[in-house]
Amino acid sequence: MATKVDATAHDEPSNSEPVQKQQKQTVDPYNVQGEVDENGVVKAIDYNKLVDEFGTKKIDDELLARLERVTGKRPHHFLRRGIVFSHRDLELILDRYERGEPFFLYTGRGPSSDSVHVGHTIPFEFTKWLQDTFDVPLIIMLTDDEKYLFSEKKTIEEVQGYCNSNAKDIIAIGFDPAKTFIFSDFDYVGGAFYRNIVRLSKHITLNQARAIFGFNESSNIGRIHFGSIQGATSWASSFPHIFGEDEKETVGIPALIPCAIDQDPYFRMTRDVSARLKYQGKPYAKPSLIHALFLPALQGPGTKMSASIDESAIFMRDTPNQIKNKINKHAFSGGKVSEEEHRQLGGDTSVDVAFQYLRFFLEDDEELERIKVAYETGEMLTGELKAICIRELQRYVAAFQDRRAKVDDETVKLFMETRPLKWGGNPRAPIV
Ligand code: ATP
Repeated sequence: MATKVDATAHDEPSNSEPVQKQQKQTVDPYNVQGEVDENGVVKAIDYNKLVDEFGTKKIDDELLARLERVTGKRPHHFLRRGIVFSHRDLELILDRYERGEPFFLYTGRGPSSDSVHVGHTIPFEFTKWLQDTFDVPLIIMLTDDEKYLFSEKKTIEEVQGYCNSNAKDIIAIGFDPAKTFIFSDFDYVGGAFYRNIVRLSKHITLNQARAIFGFNESSNIGRIHFGSIQGATSWASSFPHIFGEDEKETVGIPALIPCAIDQDPYFRMTRDVSARLKYQGKPYAKPSLIHALFLPALQGPGTKMSASIDESAIFMRDTPNQIKNKINKHAFSGGKVSEEEHRQLGGDTSVDVAFQYLRFFLEDDEELERIKVAYETGEMLTGELKAICIRELQRYVAAFQDRRAKVDDETVKLFMETRPLKWGGNPRAPIV
């Protein structure tokens, strides 16, 4: 492995470990927490440090300009604002797009509750933009097996039950059914996909899995193996109904994976194995990645909003009143302790959760800048900032709920049916 997450920072993946004094920053699929200082204060996540530790590249102005040139589209506001901020081999995907060679998008969700939260919609909204922009197939994995393996209490029936409601949430983002395949691991594992899972698992040692994910002797072996399932989804040959049966051709088709940066360890591992694998002399394509920041938990920028920690999240099923109460009661403020001090010194937008949410959800660049200046100079108070945030989130969630109400079980069946997809105007896009 080229780079590793610090495996000493935690023993066993868990989302609810008590905060301890002086801990290093930890970001992996199971733990997201900024550095804890000697007073037990959790600092904001240091994304520059992550880029260095993980060995990814920052998305710079030059790459953004190329993306705009190649696609003819103004970059999404997540890209313009550095919310989608890091990547692995995005240039190679742009090269392929320019040459008219195939690639696909892959993202996912672990159904840990019956509703997604506003943080989950970040990678999905961005994925929709990528699908609209590139006109390529999209594969969405529902890791129901993962949520069973990594939870002490959840039953298989429970997580499988969440798949239907989570699929409806995902569909409500607005994906094109002709170009999108959603699957549950429990239902789809088998055949070509399972062959790839086993291929991948044969090339990962226990030592590597421990170093990457922090497993220990007490970890159940399902958890240790799970990375091969998430990784094998990035190989096009796992989906013969979409890309064709000829593995010699399909192993060369790469995935572009939009996700928050906590998912990177799975694909670092997969890229490492891809580089060592050939199918009848043809090399496996390494997946490319494009990483987003986390939408912070209501409690502050030291950790992410998580569906497993109810009080950290605004769910897409929440009512306008629930949204209002959660923001007013729990959203961490960057304001000063007294109005007088705030008027004098201004607030800190870099840690203020209401402002951070506006960075994600308020599309108007000029209005966002106006709010930033007003808050930082003390002209705007925390209550006013929270009121704007509440209005924007209520608007965003209500629009989502309108679309979600139109998604029925038949629509879910359509997206989850194992079938050929249509993209680029062809029933089956040309395979180079
Ligand atoms: P859980 O729902 O159990 O808390 P989770 O929050 O990690 O888990 P997943 O369903 O495993 O959610 O993740 C689905 C996708 O959403 C991944 O790409 C993940 O990186 C992303 N994601 C999860 N939480 C956030 C967040 N707060 N902000 C941005 N992206 C997020």
